[in-house]
Amino acid sequence: MTAKNRAAFMTGLNEMEIRELPMPAAKEGQVVVKLEYVGICGSDVHYFEHGRIGDFIVEGDFILGHECAGTVVEVGRGVTLRAGDRVALEPGATCGRCEFCVTGRYNLCPDVEFLATPPYHGCFQNYIAFPAHLAFKLPNNISTKEGALIEPLAVGLEAASVGNVTLGSSVVILGSGCIGLMSLLASKASGASNVTVVDVIPKRLEKAKELGATRVINAAEVDSTEAILTATEGKGADVVMETAGSTRAAQQTPFVVKRGGTIVLVGMGPDDVIPFNFAKLMGQVAGVKTIFRYKNQYPKAIKAVSSGSIDVSGIVTNEFAFDDIAEAFRVNIENKKEVVKIVIKI
Ligand SMILES: [Zn+2]
Ligand SMILES: [Zn+2]
Repeated sequence: MTAKNRAAFMTGLNEMEIRELPMPAAKEGQVVVKLEYVGICGSDVHYFEHGRIGDFIVEGDFILGHECAGTVVEVGRGVTLRAGDRVALEPGATCGRCEFCVTGRYNLCPDVEFLATPPYHGCFQNYIAFPAHLAFKLPNNISTKEGALIEPLAVGLEAASVGNVTLGSSVVILGSGCIGLMSLLASKASGASNVTVVDVIPKRLEKAKELGATRVINAAEVDSTEAILTATEGKGADVVMETAGSTRAAQQTPFVVKRGGTIVLVGMGPDDVIPFNFAKLMGQVAGVKTIFRYKNQYPKAIKAVSSGSIDVSGIVTNEFAFDDIAEAFRVNIENKKEVVKIVIKI
């Protein structure tokens, strides 16, 4: 093969450089995928700016990126996919043997190798060798740009499923970034009749409205707790999702959840300790759930997009060429109020 494999390395805080790498080869059970679109996730930006997320520390030059799709160019032994198949990659390779893996909760596997979570490199590169069972074939009516959005959509679907969003549910989503919007799309597709989205950035609220939110509330302008209660006849919502990683929003959840309802904490915030009113929670007889990534959501996400029950095409706000990836990160960091999702065309 004469093709070149180039990868974008984070070489320090806020520094990125494209370098050539050897072409990968498909081992048994693997495919080599020519990547076409890779999304920039909040976690990529966080590593780029701060060099770590919790205990995961970037050491040495590091490739970011885990939201990706492309075309299979080579298959290893024992693989049923074929060259030319377009696929979205589920970024976490798990052990398959631990108690979590064997009970279907593989997102809890302690030995997962997840793209762009140190020490495992990510996929801001032209070609990657990857386990074939994590390469999900995209139907003809899904582009690889949409394919790169299957990963954040899987998070939204996980939030809706853990929150038991069902036909007729009322849902409040705190935070209208990419994951908040994906949670909105997932909630609507799961049958929610009423979805309220709360944020402080007007542009993001506009986006939520455009993507089907029943109501949006700007928490910088009004008392959002009061507004949510007014909108729900004083009862609160069946399901409240915190997607912003905001301590204040997490604290707000028991005040806006309906009695017997469910709170889902999705966003990871900067604070280790969140003062939380458990008395209020108990008064509401509500449950609190948390999620970590997702499990078994890729097939559902792909079918939902293919059938038209979820349209992710409105999520992307900016697109950059691979050569401009450093600029894309800069734009993402400097324009947090304008950018919802940047994808890189690899
Ligand atoms: Zn992500
Ligand atoms: Zn495992």
